[in-house]
Amino acid sequence: MSNVASLAAAALSETDGLLRLAPNWVPRSFLQPGRRLKLHPDHYYALGMHRGGIDERWFGSTTEAANDNRNWDEGLSYCVAGGEKFLLRDVVAELKGEIIGDAIWDKYGKWPVYSKFFDNMGPIPHHMHQNAEQAALVGQEGKPESYYFPPQMNAIGNNFPYTFMGLEPGTTKQQVVDCLDRWNDGENGIIDLSKAYRLKPGTGWLIPPCVLHAPGSLVTYEPQWGSDVFGMYQNLVEGREVPRALLTKDFPEEFHDDNQYLVDALDWDKNVDPNYKDSNYLEPIVSEQGDGYCDKWIVYGKVNGEQLFTAKELTLQPGAKCTIKDGGAFSLITTQGSGLIEQVTLDSPVMILFGAMTEDEVFVTAKKAQSGVTYENTGTEPLVTLRYFGPDAQPEAPANGA
Ligand SMILES: [Zn+2]
Repeated sequence: MSNVASLAAAALSETDGLLRLAPNWVPRSFLQPGRRLKLHPDHYYALGMHRGGIDERWFGSTTEAANDNRNWDEGLSYCVAGGEKFLLRDVVAELKGEIIGDAIWDKYGKWPVYSKFFDNMGPIPHHMHQNAEQAALVGQEGKPESYYFPPQMNAIGNNFPYTFMGLEPGTTKQQVVDCLDRWNDGENGIIDLSKAYRLKPGTGWLIPPCVLHAPGSLVTYEPQWGSDVFGMYQNLVEGREVPRALLTKDFPEEFHDDNQYLVDALDWDKNVDPNYKDSNYLEPIVSEQGDGYCDKWIVYGKVNGEQLFTAKELTLQPGAKCTIKDGGAFSLITTQGSGLIEQVTLDSPVMILFGAMTEDEVFVTAKKAQSGVTYENTGTEPLVTLRYFGPDAQPEAPANGA
């Protein structure tokens, strides 16, 4: 047995199927931190000014952040147990179905999803994520994603809490080609072809691949496929230039100057769908509730016919205790309060120093999730946790538009 396998096995037997994870901070050189991640205010540039500020915290991730000048382990979550620190990715490689469940291991050979808190001061460019076929052309995976705006993280909405999605019905492909042709002539005007929805804390959205979106400035919990591909179609945001390389980087090189190709890469029907909100807006739906607790679906529905990820928000009032069964392995983050998951402490920190350990994040094995996990609020305010699941793990989840 390798060192990681024995450390993980020891931790799992001691906790009955739980792994404690360390905060996993990711900087973005082209963004401005929104400063709501509970990170110490002096530490938002802990990786150096040249790396950009910390805009994201990733959860249960075995996916690398596709940053230039990255540290080798950027984006990868660490487990902490037995006084040691080791990558969740290595644990999954060693323990396979025993940790993520046989169905996911057999089909994907890895934990294929992750989630993050995304926290920016302002809006970001109108962009899309390639689908699986397009991403395969550049040796990557597609990236459907989903959003939930946790109320606990969103006391302040920052500069622009509205998200543009898709294109106004009736928009022509030529209009979008014209925008890309204007890349070096000042603002290219693509946002004039779209419309924004006001973001409401406690709700969310599904974002299918190849659909344009310009995320607004709420802190967003984002269960998504494990990939970092994108193409930015807007060239100027809040007066800052977007390099054209960020439009083309995940398309085959021979098409980098072919604006028609870049527009044809959009899922046109979905972008101009007049009923876009009906199929993609997510109001929480109660999954189960009882004495002092309520468990809600916050991310649900299928993307192009497949259930790729789902997420739930569990709230327990002070003193409440419950046991909940789930369909598969999950990664959990605490957004408020304190208590226990099984015998492991959960505690939402007030402020986190860069590099410091917390007690707010856990990964739970498929077997443990299926047999039932007990949660207890031992504190004086509600205990609130968010947890996301992998593909096909939750056949009971509601459908889109429910
Ligand atoms: Zn996106």
